[in-house]
Amino acid sequence: MSPVNSEALFERAKKVAPGGVHSPVRSFKGLDRCPVFFKSAQGAYLTSVEDKKYIDFCQSFGPLILGHLDEEVKEKVHSMVDTAWTFGAAEIYSLDLAEWITSRVPFVEKLRFTSSGTEAVMSTLRVARAATGRKKILKFEGCYHGHLDALLVKAGSGLAGVAAASSAGITPETALQTLTLPLDNEEMLHELFAREGHEIAAVIIEPLPANYGLLIQRPEFLQTVAAVAKKYGTLLIFDEVISGFRVARGGMAQILDIVPDLVTYGKIIGGGFPVGCYGGRLDLMNLVAPLGPVYQAGTLSGNPIGMVAGLETLKKMERLDGWNVLNARTEKFVKKLNANFNQMNNGLIVDQFASLFWIRKNNSNSQPLRALESISPEQAPLFKNLFLKSLDAGLYLAPNAYEVGFASMAHSDEIFNQTIQIITEASKI
Ligand SMILES: *Cc1c(COP(=O)(O)O)cnc(C)c1O
Repeated sequence: MSPVNSEALFERAKKVAPGGVHSPVRSFKGLDRCPVFFKSAQGAYLTSVEDKKYIDFCQSFGPLILGHLDEEVKEKVHSMVDTAWTFGAAEIYSLDLAEWITSRVPFVEKLRFTSSGTEAVMSTLRVARAATGRKKILKFEGCYHGHLDALLVKAGSGLAGVAAASSAGITPETALQTLTLPLDNEEMLHELFAREGHEIAAVIIEPLPANYGLLIQRPEFLQTVAAVAKKYGTLLIFDEVISGFRVARGGMAQILDIVPDLVTYGKIIGGGFPVGCYGGRLDLMNLVAPLGPVYQAGTLSGNPIGMVAGLETLKKMERLDGWNVLNARTEKFVKKLNANFNQMNNGLIVDQFASLFWIRKNNSNSQPLRALESISPEQAPLFKNLFLKSLDAGLYLAPNAYEVGFASMAHSDEIFNQTIQIITEASKI
């Protein structure tokens, strides 16, 4: 019998799946290392097939705000598994979660559950086009919105605003319907809207861009995006798949006090199960089938296991004042880490917002980066070194230089302190 180890499993996996994985970042591409194959998880820890235990600051890229296998969530999931797996019919579980969300986030007047963040985003674009009768969508470089064709675009080489496909298999016609702008640039925003604002159905933005590093925006920039959209009759979509119910109960919309027309959620609202959601203004959501003409559906949408896991996660966060507790712990952790980096003068810095953090090359002024083009070309090699040394020492960070870290309620002070030691040691030059 062949030994069970990550190398052997990766060889098998590469034969049956592209790159051996079912989502690209999992493959450790560019890190010159075989991905670790895991077999179990608990709290802040992952256990590999080699029986090595890792502190996990990836947390499945964000959904697990309580950590792996939280006891209370687990109890709800077990009881749901014993009750029903899926109905494909009207049921009470999605109703409970929908009522919880709409009662906590006032601008979400109605919502629809999907099975992923991508589907939720895709559906908002359809609603926006139906509502406005316009074709174009505006997105920002450095924001990720899932893998739908319309938003897998990057800045084109020609006219400002014109996009090109960022993936093979997307038609130029599709890419041309999406405009792109850099973040943090009011001037280009005003120019683009003056030129074609009346053709733009929606502007979509991650109010906390956290998929290409952590690009914390000036509130004034986001306020300007909202104001300009309003002026031109363009709908504002906040993609809060990563920030929703993580940075605060009401997400970035609450922190910024900006009311988007539509919002998308995912990750945390499924408590670790596949759930997405879009919602917002009543008149817009009333356009969705079966009430209105915008078709959108899903065989497993509102899956009861995800619904109860998500609801218990959110209720527990509320009960524990989880957002304040977790944000304070993460801030303390990042401060200590930055103090160490500073003392070592190792050229690294950690940016933090709520329970998200990003270790990056410090480009001397120590200000958080706000736009994609500010990221240092040294980011990837620096991260690779840090990542591999940390991994060997038992710390699992998201395996990519542009992915952020996610803290969870399962990360105790002791675990945070151990992590500081590991990262400090790994980042010595
Ligand atoms: C993760 C993410 C998505 C995509 O969600 P999936 O569930 O992976 O399809 C969309 N937008 C943002 C901001 C995300 O972080």
